[in-house]
Amino acid sequence: MINTELSNIAEIVLNQRKFFQTGKTKDVDFRIEQLKTLKLAILEHEQAIIQALQADLHKPEFEIYMTELGIIKEVDYAIKHLKTWIKPKKAAVSWEFFSYSARIYSEPLGVVLIIGPWNYPFNLIISPLVGAIAAGNCTIIKPSELAPHTSHVLTEIIAKYFDPAYIAVLEGGVETSEKLLIEKFDHIFFTGGTAVGKIVMAAAAKHLTPVTLELGGKSPCIVDTDINLEHTIRRITWGKFLNAGQTCIAPDYLLVDNKIKKDLVNGLQKCLKEFYGDQPDKSPDYARIISQKHFDRLVNFLKNGEIIIGGETKSSERYIAPTLIDNVSLLDPIMQEEIFGPLLPIIEYTDIAEAIALINSRPKPLALYLFSQNKNLQKHVLQETSSGGVCINDTLMQFGVSSLPFGGVGDSGIGSYHGKGSFDIFSHDKSVLQNSFWLDLKWRYAPYKGKLPLIKKLLG
Ligand code: NAD
Repeated sequence: MINTELSNIAEIVLNQRKFFQTGKTKDVDFRIEQLKTLKLAILEHEQAIIQALQADLHKPEFEIYMTELGIIKEVDYAIKHLKTWIKPKKAAVSWEFFSYSARIYSEPLGVVLIIGPWNYPFNLIISPLVGAIAAGNCTIIKPSELAPHTSHVLTEIIAKYFDPAYIAVLEGGVETSEKLLIEKFDHIFFTGGTAVGKIVMAAAAKHLTPVTLELGGKSPCIVDTDINLEHTIRRITWGKFLNAGQTCIAPDYLLVDNKIKKDLVNGLQKCLKEFYGDQPDKSPDYARIISQKHFDRLVNFLKNGEIIIGGETKSSERYIAPTLIDNVSLLDPIMQEEIFGPLLPIIEYTDIAEAIALINSRPKPLALYLFSQNKNLQKHVLQETSSGGVCINDTLMQFGVSSLPFGGVGDSGIGSYHGKGSFDIFSHDKSVLQNSFWLDLKWRYAPYKGKLPLIKKLLG
């Protein structure tokens, strides 16, 4: 394990700066080689990664392939497209610039820092790393201390396949983060909660370091009457209870048209039994809460509203049953904080305007879900609300589309990534304008006498 003393951190950053200055990372073939190495490293350690995620979160193997190891698709996508992304792009010039050519070059930023969360502790480190490598940077990674097994595996893998002067993992908690944030980086990519995001941004500001902040929030899920009820129920149950609700874009609460609430609630209860059986604690397909602190926080939420189904807990296993909750007050803690666990409050509305007003009275969410086939309603909700992203008639799937930028707005984050977006955030767009020598009109040079009408005409 790398020593995280301040002096050592400064030395790692310095070594990475020296590595970056060799220019090695600017070579596109080098980058592609590193992405291929990353893919190989993941494939060769698949079992160790699965075991670590099971030890940290009791994640079902199926979910690990779908939501953590599935990241290989992003690696492949970057390998496939990098040569196109890296090509200088021609920019148009207006007629006054007829003797010029304009291009935009994507250049790497230098040494970047990635700080990760615990809920998808493998994916949410590797995914930005793909962008950092593709864009030609050196990278320091700080995984979450709350998923220690995954953090160790990441450290082992990266140390085995990469020179620490190019990519290094520094394990540790808040203290390690704080020490890292003293250093000057060329970009900081942070995934975590809004409160810590503010701390990271304040530290970055001292060095004028740009940040990408992938934060959380309360993502609403609106359910209209114009739906396929059976599909809606399955998609909501899956999106909410995957990883025991510890997903940044999980539907946080439901806003349901009161005409369909009874059928929806009945269906959700049936679906929970279909997915996890009568005793979800015995189901091999249901994860656990990451830590005692988060378990206690969620257990406190159970005091709010009335439990429809679920509510059972086992502290020794950090198990909380999938739970549906009715009659919550908007002032209850469960409706004030991001839930980030397997508790689903259900709120009814009689007019969509009420649902929209509730969403707009709160910080902008990371995701907004709408279940409705009604085109006018879809248009209305899209126009009247703001959120990081929207997924209509499904949940979570927007995360997996490489061509869609993924990120928040307002309190749910700054910047977005995935696919080319990941390459872009770790690159600087350098504008290059070139003139030629075949002509040098003197209209812009002093003396200006007699030239005023010309400049006025040009500007007009
Ligand atoms: P967190 O903010 O507590 O921790 C994230 C990282 O920051 C960890 O590596 C941690 O060690 C570090 N950290 C904690 N306190 C710090 C401090 N004072 N100074 C510097 N660094 C510090 O978040 P978490 O609990 O790991 O993750 C849960 C949150 O992350 C939720 O709000 C969730 O919505 C959000 N999240 C967002 C996304 C996204 O893609 N937008 C993805 C996953 C999670």
